[in-house]
Amino acid sequence: MVFHNAGMRSGIECSLCARCPRDRIRGCCTISPVFLLADIGYFLNNGGDEFVNDLLDSPYVDISADQLMVNAIDPSSEASPGTSQVRAASIAPFSHLSHPKTCRFHHPEVGCRIPMSYRNMVCRQFLCPGVKLWKDTRARRWVDFWLYLQEEEIRRQQLLADKCAKQGFSLLARRHECLRLVRSMYRDLQPAPRLPDGYPEMEILVLKPTGIPGAKATN
Ligand code: SF4
Ligand code: SF4
Repeated sequence: MVFHNAGMRSGIECSLCARCPRDRIRGCCTISPVFLLADIGYFLNNGGDEFVNDLLDSPYVDISADQLMVNAIDPSSEASPGTSQVRAASIAPFSHLSHPKTCRFHHPEVGCRIPMSYRNMVCRQFLCPGVKLWKDTRARRWVDFWLYLQEEEIRRQQLLADKCAKQGFSLLARRHECLRLVRSMYRDLQPAPRLPDGYPEMEILVLKPTGIPGAKATN
């Protein structure tokens, strides 16, 4: 388990996910990830213009006024050429598993194809209850850190959404103006308000994954 303290884009890595005992093809990446204006503001200020444009142009993305949802792939119904077909074929032998869908960014061999800093808040911090991370006393001291980040992310999203709404901009109407405002407002939000003290840039913890059927301890 690795905690990365990278300000507002901090995240948690878990080595068990690469050989997830729950679903070894997709792990828990069965969702349709949502990117908020707060994520978009980060992308636009960190070389992600193309990523934002790709999301906005994609037929697989549901666009709302203040967020983008990347629809998960349903391997049983989607057999279009390209990556989805490859992925559908890889998943087919496991179609008996309880979750038929898979996140569009997930690759059966390499896991998430987008870097940690580009993942949304849920994906950067999510670990299934089976990992039992927060029962470990060494990990518990990080709880306040993640809670702070979640609250700050919600505050930023609200701020950006409110300002856009007041100006009559959104991802649906007057999008160009919306993106320009989000880019400049996000830049002005830097640096993040003081993060909780006492957390190293990186901390590695070795845990025994006892909570998931079939999991073997790694230490
Ligand atoms: S968080 Fe849990 S369910 Fe998700 S991939 Fe990791 S081990 Fe698997
Ligand atoms: S964006 Fe990455 S981490 Fe999030 S669900 Fe998709 S594959 Fe998993």
